Amino acid sequence: MTALDWSDLQHTLPDAARDLLAPGTPVVVTGCAGFIGSHLTEALLALGCEVVGVDRLTDYYDVAQKRDNLRGPLASDRFTFLERDINDLDAVELLAGRRVCFHLAAQAGVRASWGGEFCNYLDWNVQATQHLLEAARHERVRPQLARLVYSSSSSVYGDQPRYPVTEDDLPMPRSPYGVTKLAAEHLCVLYGANYEVPTSSLRYFTVYGPRQRPDMAFRIFLEAALDGRPFTVYGDGQQTRDFTFVADAVRANLMAAAATSTTEVFNVGGGSRVSLREALDTLQELLREAVPGCEAELVYDAMAMGDVRHTAADGSRAADTVGWSPTVGLREGLAREVAWVVARRSDDDR
Ligand code: NAD
Repeated sequence: MTALDWSDLQHTLPDAARDLLAPGTPVVVTGCAGFIGSHLTEALLALGCEVVGVDRLTDYYDVAQKRDNLRGPLASDRFTFLERDINDLDAVELLAGRRVCFHLAAQAGVRASWGGEFCNYLDWNVQATQHLLEAARHERVRPQLARLVYSSSSSVYGDQPRYPVTEDDLPMPRSPYGVTKLAAEHLCVLYGANYEVPTSSLRYFTVYGPRQRPDMAFRIFLEAALDGRPFTVYGDGQQTRDFTFVADAVRANLMAAAATSTTEVFNVGGGSRVSLREALDTLQELLREAVPGCEAELVYDAMAMGDVRHTAADGSRAADTVGWSPTVGLREGLAREVAWVVARRSDDDR
């Protein structure tokens, strides 16, 4: 059920994060049924925290996967699940007495953010964050709340003149999704400056691993190859990404919760900047080892609107400030995603 092993987590966290997230600490995770949020929830439960998870279970992708992601947490008596939209909740009630709010809920996806669905991006990415920040400054919440950790995105950068990017480079999002992630990040900064609400914003660079969203490239590739369908590469495959293993993104959340200055913004990149084509070659090799004879067929199409050509993170601020750096290399992380996809499909066959 737990797709990653968190048994050693307590011993590998810096003291500040371990002390803040000691057994019994009350925390909130929004987006707890999603790809990253479900792993984070499991990690927090492994640390002994009392977790309230919120997720409206949007149907952007198969809700059955989200329910599956929650099976482990729901078996714990330290987990409470609220199947609700953040915007419909009394956020002061939700946050009162909580030490940390990990805010991952959002409408993800670059391509779907063009057109009529944009209202969801505004409601679920911008409005929901403002709703939580308003509550965070309330007198019943602010004294206990050590930090709100916001899941931002490398999409805020757009195409940059030089790489790797630092947090001081000018954000220039290329998609409506990136605009909403940046808007919510700016709100976090504003509530810090005006109301001293402590926030850390984590700019994740393409996260992958077990439970990856079905709209993300590696997952689409694996499912297509196993079904015998072709996989479409958008662009020439030479676009590069700084792929980040999901356990590293989870650790970044835990460590950023213990940051000390009021407002922090961190790049969270995997340190594995490779071209999409190279990553797919590795994935193909690993898939062949797991399922002998399984070959993916690649077809090429024009680069999708809103996709950027390159991403690459300068990770020194996260390393210097909270001691975070990536620990899982691309080949090892991809092998874990392949194993999860293959195991999941054989469970479904039973
Ligand atoms: P996900 O879609 O798997 O998880 C997000 C969850 O939030 C979903 O389960 C959804 O139902 C829930 N949700 C959305 N709006 C909600 C609302 N208003 N109230 C309650 N629940 C709501 O996405 P993910 O890939 O796990 O991403 C998690 C976070 O990380 C998001 O904020 C996303 O923007 C950010 N991010 C992800 C990546 C990545 O590579 N996966 C990269 C950059 C940033």
